Amino acid sequence: MSMPPRHLADLDVSQRRAAVVELGQPGYRADQLSRQYFGRFENDVAAMSDVPHAARESLGVLLPPLLSEVRVLSADDGATRKSLWRLSDGTLVESVLMQYPDRVTVCVSSQAGCGMGCPFCATGQGGLRRNLSTAEIVDQVVAAARSASRGELPGRPARLSNVVFMGMGEPLANFARLAAALHRLTDPAPAGLGLSQRSVTVSTVGLVPAIARLADEGFKVTVAVSLHAPDDALRDTLVPVNTRWKVAEVLAAADEYAARTGRRYSVEYAMIRDINDQPWRADLLGELLRARLAHVNLIPLNPTPGSQWDASPKPVEREFVRRLEAHGVPVTVRDTRGREIDGACGQLAASG
Ligand code: SAH
Ligand code: SF4
Repeated sequence: MSMPPRHLADLDVSQRRAAVVELGQPGYRADQLSRQYFGRFENDVAAMSDVPHAARESLGVLLPPLLSEVRVLSADDGATRKSLWRLSDGTLVESVLMQYPDRVTVCVSSQAGCGMGCPFCATGQGGLRRNLSTAEIVDQVVAAARSASRGELPGRPARLSNVVFMGMGEPLANFARLAAALHRLTDPAPAGLGLSQRSVTVSTVGLVPAIARLADEGFKVTVAVSLHAPDDALRDTLVPVNTRWKVAEVLAAADEYAARTGRRYSVEYAMIRDINDQPWRADLLGELLRARLAHVNLIPLNPTPGSQWDASPKPVEREFVRRLEAHGVPVTVRDTRGREIDGACGQLAASG
């Protein structure tokens, strides 16, 4: 397993200029490349008509192919598309593009595999293969933006609006590369894609110090905390990292992030039949979140190979929602987009 060659998207604006100059080209060509890549989603120098032929070959080394498409599966009449990508060292990762009435969202991977070992998650079962590079993360988003802009989703060509780090991996366990990728996604063109910070969501298992680092570095992206249980006894078993950072510490870190950024956060809660869906746990969760700037996103458990667990029955889910709402906690129930193509939360395993 080895990291890929250096790519334009690994570099900030001044590093791009330096790299271009190192290749014997005038610095302004870095802006041309950036406009093509971040503005037009073009990654082939041969198609860059504003770059002279003679310069294209040497500048091409800054745009090495990082993701090659192994296959695309679609569902929901084409509105959900899961791509399987092969990286330069043969590692496989997945991303999922989803069209909604009001937005186009891509769910991206931050690592190949994951080392956090949550027992209900397909990604967690194979362990961590490697971190993705900054550009490997960014290129999943650029590929999605290209696909949407070229009309590969139903209806008219669309603009990618949202990014969620809910694919493979724990984004905050790959912090430096994640942070650079967040800059590429949210910096205004031509430095980056110019997405709003609010429309980028980083989902974390609850790595407490890294949540604070996000705010330290000035990000105001949306944070989602994968809680799955309101009590440490159960969370220790569902989210093994809870033995290191407890429920109270994770929520305190999210509160602090909310206070520093002015952003509400979401609490992710997979509804697992007879495991974490009891009415008393709904009340306990409601108590915990009542006075916080949080809303709950319930995720019906998606089946994964080798797990005996099921999603909670709908009446149980409705009662859970009712009790949270009775505590004044806003709740949404996540749709199960992409379930039949194993493209839903926790189903990404990149088995080839
Ligand atoms: N590692 C990060 C982000 C990737 S997982 C995290 O855990 O937050 C994205 C979301 O999918 C998390 O909330 C995760 O708990 C949830 N998830 C994992 N497996 C799932 C499954 N089988 N069914 C439903 N949600 C699942
Ligand atoms: Fe990793 Fe998130 Fe899956 Fe846990 S739920 S194993 S942190 S990807």
